[in-house]
Amino acid sequence: MGPSPLKNNDETRKEILSAIRDFVPSLNPNNPIFASFHNGQVQNPLGGGSYAFQDDIVGPVLSALVDDEVLEGKRSAAQPRLPTRPIVIHAGLQPNNSPHAGTLVVFCYAFSFARWMCGRMQKMAKDAGFGGKLPAVSVEITFVDTAPVDGKGVTVDGVQYQRAYRLAGPSDFTDDYHAVLRFLSRWSGIPYTAAFQSDFFSGPSIPKILEYILSRHITLGRQLSPKHGVLALRAACPVSGCGLAEKHGLLNTYKGSTITFKCPNHGPHSICVSEPAEAARIEANAPARNLIRSMSHLLDAKAHNVRVTGGDYAGTYQEMFLYRPLAAWSAATRLAVGKTPHILYAPVIVDWSGAKLSKSLYVREGAYDLMKVLGTDGLCSFARLRDHFDDDGSEGLRRIWLEVESWLKNPKKLFRSYSVEYLQRVIFETEKKD
Ligand SMILES: [Zn+2]
Repeated sequence: MGPSPLKNNDETRKEILSAIRDFVPSLNPNNPIFASFHNGQVQNPLGGGSYAFQDDIVGPVLSALVDDEVLEGKRSAAQPRLPTRPIVIHAGLQPNNSPHAGTLVVFCYAFSFARWMCGRMQKMAKDAGFGGKLPAVSVEITFVDTAPVDGKGVTVDGVQYQRAYRLAGPSDFTDDYHAVLRFLSRWSGIPYTAAFQSDFFSGPSIPKILEYILSRHITLGRQLSPKHGVLALRAACPVSGCGLAEKHGLLNTYKGSTITFKCPNHGPHSICVSEPAEAARIEANAPARNLIRSMSHLLDAKAHNVRVTGGDYAGTYQEMFLYRPLAAWSAATRLAVGKTPHILYAPVIVDWSGAKLSKSLYVREGAYDLMKVLGTDGLCSFARLRDHFDDDGSEGLRRIWLEVESWLKNPKKLFRSYSVEYLQRVIFETEKKD
């Protein structure tokens, strides 16, 4: 008599799963892997944003752009409710690694949203019998080349100084970003431009915005930099071959429209923000950049600006670092009255614990080897995605693109996170699609 056949009941299944759960970590006791189980069912529960925008997100954004034009008194009541100015969809990146799945999702969202906007405007124009010209829609990708280069900074007397990509030379990953952007542009039919920090700080409204910010630097420093309490504005030391910039702005001094920065090697150097050429040299940390960019978008009379960014920036971050300072600015200057930035938040890619997928952390913690074992390493970077499919990167990226397109088609899917395990199934385990 052999062993009795397993009874397929709940109790037996529970025992089997429990035995697997106990066994799997023993495969590699020094660096254990844990098993977890799910039933493969995907829920898209409604609530908050997913409820409010379950049928449509493109229409409400277009309507908000029209409302901006109404506020500016630039529209006649007879026009159909279509924007008249070109629409630019913005996304940004720090070129310190090959783009990982989170960044690729943001880019796909930007191009897909642009494409859906075009389609919607064409339909609205047709329905309204409007034969006029529709506004152009494009994507602008900002390379945050003021991001610090690893290993090029110094700490002197407890103060951190960094060197940025724009002085250290372009990052090794620039080509990967352009490869991704070319594919997305081709698939969406939406043109894109690349911009750099100096382009942004060269904008016509920047000197006025910086003058305002300097005039409120004490309050804004407290608001925008809770850790240090001062504005994190930086400028690279102008001495040839140096380029050090103090990371947190701790030693900056402010007088009128002039900021004086301190280099640990060459002493003080100044920038007058009223001079456009000098203002273009300014660098800012993420919250200050976010605020300055939003102000400049709100003052842009030539285009509508819509930003796509990661969902980890939604909520308290924006309320504290963006909307409060914007409201104070608008009240003090009477600029952009009644207007707020248009920002779309892309779903975050999370690991088993719900933490955002971070390539640098994964590599540092040695979890990357595990991702290779699990077959999810392609989510770590476009370079790995390319290796996984053994091509120019197009197959893996196209699968992410199709997934993001399906979210735009069914917008309730935009207001949630997606796990690495979920993406593994839709990106790596589906049959090659034609
Ligand atoms: Zn210096």
